[in-house]
Amino acid sequence: MKRIAIIGAGASGLTAACYASGDGRHVLLFEKQKKIGRKLLVTGNGRCNISNRNIIAGHYHGHNSRFVDAVFSRFSLQDTITFFEELGVPFIEEDEGRLYPASLQASTITKVFQYELKKRNVDLQLHRRIERIEYEETGFTLYTAGAEEHRVDSVILAAGSCAFPPAGASNIGYDLARSLGHRVYEPWPVILPVTIPLKSLHQLQGIKWDAAIRVEVNGKEQERSVGELLFTAYGISGPVSLNVSRSVNAAVIAGKSPVVIIDLYPSMSGDDLARRLDRLWSDGGKKTGFSLLGIMKERMPEVLCGIAGVDPEKRVASLTPADKEKIAGTMKNLILEPGKPRGFQEAVAAAGGVDVDEIDPATMESKLVRNLYITGELLDVDGDSGGYNLQFAWSTGAIAGMAQ
Ligand SMILES: Cc1cc2nc3c(=O)[nH]c(=O)nc-3n(C[C@H](O)[C@H](O)[C@H](O)COP(=O)(O)OP(=O)(O)OC[C@H]3O[C@@H](n4cnc5c(N)ncnc54)[C@H](O)[C@@H]3O)c2cc1C
Repeated sequence: MKRIAIIGAGASGLTAACYASGDGRHVLLFEKQKKIGRKLLVTGNGRCNISNRNIIAGHYHGHNSRFVDAVFSRFSLQDTITFFEELGVPFIEEDEGRLYPASLQASTITKVFQYELKKRNVDLQLHRRIERIEYEETGFTLYTAGAEEHRVDSVILAAGSCAFPPAGASNIGYDLARSLGHRVYEPWPVILPVTIPLKSLHQLQGIKWDAAIRVEVNGKEQERSVGELLFTAYGISGPVSLNVSRSVNAAVIAGKSPVVIIDLYPSMSGDDLARRLDRLWSDGGKKTGFSLLGIMKERMPEVLCGIAGVDPEKRVASLTPADKEKIAGTMKNLILEPGKPRGFQEAVAAAGGVDVDEIDPATMESKLVRNLYITGELLDVDGDSGGYNLQFAWSTGAIAGMAQ
């Protein structure tokens, strides 16, 4: 009987196990944690943003952008929908094409996989961390942390990335891939909050605001996102900030000096805002900060006036045209310099990983080591926020499983 080892019971390893199981195959699924799918449980704030209606290469990044096209032509979004339908999990669609299990609970997914593993006689080995893999022409020997040895004919390395250690992530997957001769692009954190060192901004901590953000390097736009922004004690978070964090971190890591430009009134043109401010400033007896309260949340007038260099205590009647321009400019184009990238501790995903030029996308088999397959976020592919990373994990896991 063919013996197949899958290392990692996360999104891609679980899918691989379902497809690899069957007559004449013994599937061993090793998971270093006490439960399967620990990262899956925290996805989509516990709701699991399982995929997206718009699975196109433009939402993926890495050194070889053609790789994802080959993967999705082999196992598409529709194949994923069918797979989960058969498991009893229909999807529902929310904003921006985001797909979720109809239960809106990530735990549905882990429970359904738990059932499928049993039904398909997958040999689940929990709390077994694979420390070392030895390869010979005749097969592989896997060594666990507890010094057990397992001889297998084929290995699917589905160990995930090092993003978000609170769910058990570590560097071990990269180390195992390197030990078998694979090139690994240095991982770096993506989809995470952005540090803004400007202290006065931190006084806005806790305020949520609909805004448009763009990232520029040397005056050239790198990325733009519109949606909810959350001010924090160290900078910015919330969906728009997560969306642009990749461009910010890529530029900082490359030694460039990006700026984050926030438009706090994206639904108004500059002229509309100027007219609105003129009306608000018709009563010259008001203090400037107070005059802005009708269109801002508390604390924002003081902080934004401060950043604009205008005293919020100043009477509106004494505002100069330059003061007015600076306040309007801060509201429409708040230019901020990001600080050092935050760490993997808060990252939803990792950019970098195993070089996909060394992987055959038709099977996910290594081009360097026969019968070794590598899947999921361990590879040098990262998707945007919105269900793209899980879709890549489902597809690559299914392809590797089918190839057994
Ligand atoms: C907070 C958070 C929210 C997210 N939300 C979403 C979302 O809503 N939508 C989306 O598309 N993506 C989301 N992601 C990203 C998504 O979870 C990952 O891209 C996806 O889980 C990657 O799947 P994977 O199988 O490659 O790795 P993982 O799911 O990380 O699974 C790898 C598994 O391998 C195990 N393992 C590692 N090394 C070993 C070893 N040596 N021996 C045995 N076992 C090992 C790990 O314990 C782990 O269980 C989120 C990530 C985080 C951190």
